[in-house]
Amino acid sequence: MLSDFDQNTQYRRKVLQVLLLITFFGGFVFGLSNIYRELYTLAFLELGYGLFSFLVWRQIGNTTNFQFWVISYLFPFFSIMMYALSVPGSSQSIFVWILTIPVISYLLLGKKIGFYFSIVFMTLGISIFHLKFMTDDIPLSITVSLNVILSGVLMIALAHVYERNREKNEERLMQLAGTDKLTGLANRMKLIDVYASASEYAKRHNVPLTIVLFDLDYFKKINDLYGHHVGDAALCFVADFLKKHTRKSDLLARFGGEEFALIMLASKPKDSFQQVDSLRKKLMNKPFIYNKKEINITLSAGISYLGVDGTDLDDLLVKADERLYFAKENGRNRVVADVLADNIEPSNSAK
Ligand code: GH3
Ligand code: MG
Ligand code: MG
Repeated sequence: MLSDFDQNTQYRRKVLQVLLLITFFGGFVFGLSNIYRELYTLAFLELGYGLFSFLVWRQIGNTTNFQFWVISYLFPFFSIMMYALSVPGSSQSIFVWILTIPVISYLLLGKKIGFYFSIVFMTLGISIFHLKFMTDDIPLSITVSLNVILSGVLMIALAHVYERNREKNEERLMQLAGTDKLTGLANRMKLIDVYASASEYAKRHNVPLTIVLFDLDYFKKINDLYGHHVGDAALCFVADFLKKHTRKSDLLARFGGEEFALIMLASKPKDSFQQVDSLRKKLMNKPFIYNKKEINITLSAGISYLGVDGTDLDDLLVKADERLYFAKENGRNRVVADVLADNIEPSNSAK
């Protein structure tokens, strides 16, 4: 989640840095050449824009408002292209720059805003080109029009297909990186990511956040009695079971071997304890069936609460783990959450 955003911004930041350097040098070179050609307004715009590019380049490395800077940079960039194309005395070759609009827009702004930028400025660029450079020679005009329009459409289509595939692949990679291979649940890395945003949300909106650590009881026995492959199938069974019995808004992750973790947002301590304890009871009454054999699986769980047991994930995991250990020491198949708000009794349950 968070890292999706970071990755995208990092990649776009690099593209923008290269572009800023090119427009810095380009602005000065074209500015000076246009002073020589006595196109003073255009020269002034190009020199000013070159300077602006340099100033943006100096601070783009660490700005948090990246999108704002990209739009502030691209809008005048493309507008100067339009002006340069339309100004009396400018050359047809400026149209080459118009063809870079889709590539630059898609790379820096992504599929959606990139598309709108491309359509608006390409249409404008092609229209200016026609108004300015069309001749009375009809067959020649048709050929030129077709060349200009088709090359513009091709550039937009290529940029669109490229960016759509890039976004899809990136999404897929991010998903794979955050997924446990065996069970398909989120993995520990994803849990850390989700905790960062969930805890921010909980603090800002003053809602409770609960961390639960589950460990299956005597799981080694399943491996020893039936084999590792049955152990794997049992883990998938428990993962599906837990997923089915937790809310979509909560995050369930495989934390390690036969340990799972759950982030519950906006459940009061009393409610979250009851939900976890009810999960435990349901699992106890739902045996895993393998080759027509019923294998009973139970779990122990430790619970901790944001704000009560700590503020960062490590503190909350340590507390939940201590309570999980306590549950194991006291007979297993129980849930321990000994610090409960709302004046609830410290509670162990093996009913
Ligand atoms: P306890 O009640 O104390 O938790 O007993 P336990 O047997 O579950 O002990 P522990 O949690 O220490 O051991 C976990 C076992 O889970 C060890 C390992 O054999 C098994 N295990 C861990 N990951 C996997 C896995 O991916 N597949 C299978 N089949 N077994 C696993
Ligand atoms: Mg374990
Ligand atoms: Mg265990």
